[in-house]
Amino acid sequence: MSLPGAVGAADGYAGRLVCSAKGCRADAAYGLLWNNPSLHTPDRRKTWLACEEHRATLGEFLSVRGFLKDVVPVGELTDETV
Ligand SMILES: [Zn+2]
Repeated sequence: MSLPGAVGAADGYAGRLVCSAKGCRADAAYGLLWNNPSLHTPDRRKTWLACEEHRATLGEFLSVRGFLKDVVPVGELTDETV
């Protein structure tokens, strides 16, 4: 699946949560939890991190495909979801 404008979750992860949008180095403010039913089992959650600016664009990308399950503040993400 091609994901224009986005790369994998936790890009550059080094004790700092950085926005997953391509080329963005801002601190993440939100975690977007999503699932692609053609790739993942129903209880699986993938996480994209998003800054304030990219929460809407990344969320839109996922929601138009029906993949978006939840959006949570980064402070509520657990090791399991990141
Ligand atoms: Zn960003």
